[in-house]
Amino acid sequence: MASGSAVEERDRRLMALALAQARLSLAWEDVPIGAVVARGEEVLGRAGNQRERLRDPTAHAEVLAMRAAASALGSWRLDGCTLYVTLEPCAMCAGAAVLARLPRVVFGASDPKAGFAGSLGDLLRDPRLNHRAEVVKGVLAEESSEVLHQFFQVRRGRGLGASVDSPRRRAGADERDRLESG
Ligand code: ZN
Repeated sequence: MASGSAVEERDRRLMALALAQARLSLAWEDVPIGAVVARGEEVLGRAGNQRERLRDPTAHAEVLAMRAAASALGSWRLDGCTLYVTLEPCAMCAGAAVLARLPRVVFGASDPKAGFAGSLGDLLRDPRLNHRAEVVKGVLAEESSEVLHQFFQVRRGRGLGASVDSPRRRAGADERDRLESG
């Protein structure tokens, strides 16, 4: 179906923007997860995970992107918007998407350890709630999980107690530069 592929094409394009936000999170050593809220082609909010940077347990990419979009729209209701996020939303973010009345959520990689958009539970499509969203998964999933995989590999490589200027840390920074430019 032609319209279907046009939507898929747009989903991939906007997920690529979310992925760019994920890579930005590496600059402040946050787990690289990125999100975008868009209405059609119009990007209303975008953010990377800032939990470490802001020392805020709720500063997930999705929450920050939804806040930016609500601010841009001047409304807490994100009618007609789609949330794009590189990793399956957690319970908090899926809950926030329901509260924002987001009609559509698109994510990249599944999160079997914390995902609440189908993995551990499904807050986005729970018939008992007063709002349900369409969920599309697996968009740029490989790229989304690859950036996470590399982040954790680098972090493990540094080991515990590595000093700030250790060669291991430098190797991590180099990896990060490579990720950011890629
Ligand atoms: Zn979350």
